[in-house]
Amino acid sequence: MGLLIYFNGRLIPEKEAKVSVFDHGLLYGDGVFEGIRSYNGRIFKLDEHLKRLYVSANAIMLNIPLEFSELKDAIVQTVRANKLKDSYIRVVVTRGVGDLGLDPKKCKIPTLFIIASKIELYSADICEKGLDVVTVATRRNLPETVSPSVKSLNYLNNIMAKIEANNAGASEGLMLNHEGYISECTGENIFIISGGCLTTPPVSAGTLEGVTRNTVIDIAAGIGMEVRERNITRCDVWSADECFLTGTAAEIVSVISLDGRIIGTGKSGEVTNKIRKEYSFLTMSEGVLVYE
Ligand code: PMP
Repeated sequence: MGLLIYFNGRLIPEKEAKVSVFDHGLLYGDGVFEGIRSYNGRIFKLDEHLKRLYVSANAIMLNIPLEFSELKDAIVQTVRANKLKDSYIRVVVTRGVGDLGLDPKKCKIPTLFIIASKIELYSADICEKGLDVVTVATRRNLPETVSPSVKSLNYLNNIMAKIEANNAGASEGLMLNHEGYISECTGENIFIISGGCLTTPPVSAGTLEGVTRNTVIDIAAGIGMEVRERNITRCDVWSADECFLTGTAAEIVSVISLDGRIIGTGKSGEVTNKIRKEYSFLTMSEGVLVYE
């Protein structure tokens, strides 16, 4: 049986959930999105994800056709309708149907759909072992263009980076910003641990302010670790004791090498494992209840 998709105000079978060829989300990547997870019948960090969605929409002057609380309800309904406990939820808002010119003025009604399904970014085996990552040539978007803080439907930069990583036989591609500092991977934030201190690039390095990133920062501070947001270089990663990536889909996954240099022991690190355990505890105990 297929999924039920929330599509412009109605729950419909996935076979019927179709976007017009004139939708500017498709023609121009004009829109925004969020990826959210539910664990054990609770939607994790739903408010945080939705805040980012509204901020992204505001930045591109796109009006989300639902109020915050209405959108929240629609997401809960979609997960419930699909009887999912553990799910990956994709919320997409596009500029809607227009003509073949790019002018968004011609798009009168935004398209809003919600998919509640599953996701697996890396095989269980790779997650267990840790990722081999390479630095790619494609740079993170310039803040002077579409801000990297906007989670838009324009992911071609990141896709180019992913292709480079695939071509190199690596699990992930690490993207630098226009100054040569580390920004993030194609869909995940990066952290290093050196001498007991947790470091991640600041948002000004062109990183998306990840919800998982912020959760990890809180966890680390909560267990008494020193946390720093500062620019880091490839050399900082090569010489780190531990390194991991964070993202809603990826969760927390260790990086065991960058550009062929083994990081730390070449295995998932002790501190990373501790943070991962705390994260897993939070995901199981917090969040918006889907079922009464
Ligand atoms: N960076 C980018 C470019 C992303 O697309 C994402 C989300 N997939 C992240 C970082 C991680 O963000 P979050 O933890 O909110 O999922």
